[in-house]
Amino acid sequence: MTTDRYLRFTGTPAGRFLTRRLGLPQPVALRRWSAERPLLDGPLLHLTAGKSELPDLGTVLARTGLRAGDARPAAVVLDATGVRDVEGLAEVHAALHPVVRSVAESGRVVVLGAPLDPADHHQAAVQQGLEGFTRSLGKEVGRGRTVTLVRLTDAGAAESTLRFLLSPRSAYVSGQVVEVGDGEVVTVEDWTRPLAGRTALVTGAARGIGEAIARTLARDGARVVCLDVPQAEAEVRRVAERVGGSAVTVDVTADDAGARIADEVPDGLDVLVHNAGITRDRKLANMAAERWSSVLDVNLASVLRTTDVLLERGVLRGWGSPLFERSRELGGGRIVVTASMAGIAGNVGQTNYAASKAGVIGFVRALAPRVAAERGVTVNAVAPGFIETRMTAAMPALLREAGRRMNSLGQGGLPVDVAETVAWLAQPGSGAVNGQVVRVCGQSLLGA
Ligand code: NAD
Repeated sequence: MTTDRYLRFTGTPAGRFLTRRLGLPQPVALRRWSAERPLLDGPLLHLTAGKSELPDLGTVLARTGLRAGDARPAAVVLDATGVRDVEGLAEVHAALHPVVRSVAESGRVVVLGAPLDPADHHQAAVQQGLEGFTRSLGKEVGRGRTVTLVRLTDAGAAESTLRFLLSPRSAYVSGQVVEVGDGEVVTVEDWTRPLAGRTALVTGAARGIGEAIARTLARDGARVVCLDVPQAEAEVRRVAERVGGSAVTVDVTADDAGARIADEVPDGLDVLVHNAGITRDRKLANMAAERWSSVLDVNLASVLRTTDVLLERGVLRGWGSPLFERSRELGGGRIVVTASMAGIAGNVGQTNYAASKAGVIGFVRALAPRVAAERGVTVNAVAPGFIETRMTAAMPALLREAGRRMNSLGQGGLPVDVAETVAWLAQPGSGAVNGQVVRVCGQSLLGA
């Protein structure tokens, strides 16, 4: 339940009338996943511009559970992988122009593009053009609709990504570009519990976004180890109990944090979520060294240190892992880090925080290709924008209001929106999604 009173107001007939008359933002309550309503409310419309390069796309889309149809679609997939010139781009316009108005509330538009071809500057130009197109359309559609671009070469490898983007789970992900590469693709037996039989560890799991991640990974079948500082022992135990997992109290900045985590998971780890984070805001001119170092230590140094220990010891499962060797059919481990919009766009008073969060993005990009090649482990980041948590509830009212409205969906996200994105990246079927930084920000007006 959101504490956003303006959003509740625009959900009433009087609120809708008044805000329309005054030209104010008109956010709608987003349609999120629930066990009773796991799918979008309407059919899927599959369109093509140019000559498709995805022979399996129809089969993969049929597996999403959405029925095909064009009457008020809840999802539109435009396959633009074959667009190689400006004439092809006109087909993108021709395909979407007549249908965009009819997309259902909280519906999805997913544009599929091809990787940019360095040997063909015409293809690269128009495929890059799809990015500007997608980001602009995301800002236009309104009423809880989202627009994303996926660059891919194989629809099968992108199944987990398409299922996520074409579901209510991706409610607060819009204006994003996701690349699906050629990583190892694992057959997922049960898409409702893709993490069954897997072990996940979430840092900062006592509350807020971390708690939501623990719940969502448990919903998807994982056994979850919930980690937080000793001061939060009671809360983290409560969360662990609720998700049927276990609790561990470790300060991630402790020298032996990596070793303590390794001891907690004697049978190895499939999913490692670095979520613990703190802010200590001051403008640089007023920032004491202690404020700087405490933030850098929790948000960045601890991520580097514990990952190194867990990889060195082979605790994170993968095929080259000295401890927990596993066959390629099971896929390698997953690392997901919580970055932040501040690490992309910067923020007044947050030189320390933004340095740490930009730092984890650098960590993801450098480590991802290496560990994927060596062990089949993927490394990705989520970058939340304005999320309704205790952290943002403590902001001055005016700043909080600006943070909520300054995005295409006109509202803050919920911790579960970040958690759903983590769950997609963490699951075995996402082996071809690697080195990505996915913003969960409702397409914030800040940062590209
Ligand atoms: P929160 O303060 O509600 O929760 C953070 C948790 O991390 C707490 O339970 C805390 O005890 C734990 N923690 C802090 N230091 C720790 C340490 N040294 N060792 C172990 N645990 C530690 O924050 P949140 O809003 O849920 O944020 C979670 C993550 O998301 C953070 O990394 C934060 O920077 C990031 N984030 C949040 C937002 C937002 O809008 N709330 C936006 C962008 C990014």
